[in-house]
Amino acid sequence: MMPRRSVSPSKGPVIRRILVRCSRTSKLQDTGLTIDEGKFATTTFRNARVSCEHCGQVHYWTAKEVVLAR
Ligand SMILES: [Zn+2]
Repeated sequence: MMPRRSVSPSKGPVIRRILVRCSRTSKLQDTGLTIDEGKFATTTFRNARVSCEHCGQVHYWTAKEVVLAR
């Protein structure tokens, strides 16, 4: 693990956590995935799912449904 000190905040990739809103509780569940914000629009998620801590179910999600968090 080498720290990359040369990356400036303005030019470096913006890594976001992918959250999904629980359809049952309306709470946000962290998918455990992260994505470069600049690549999000062109990324295809296949069979994406998350084990929801709020309702105990497994939710399938698509890119349209996610919330990107810092
Ligand atoms: Zn849920």
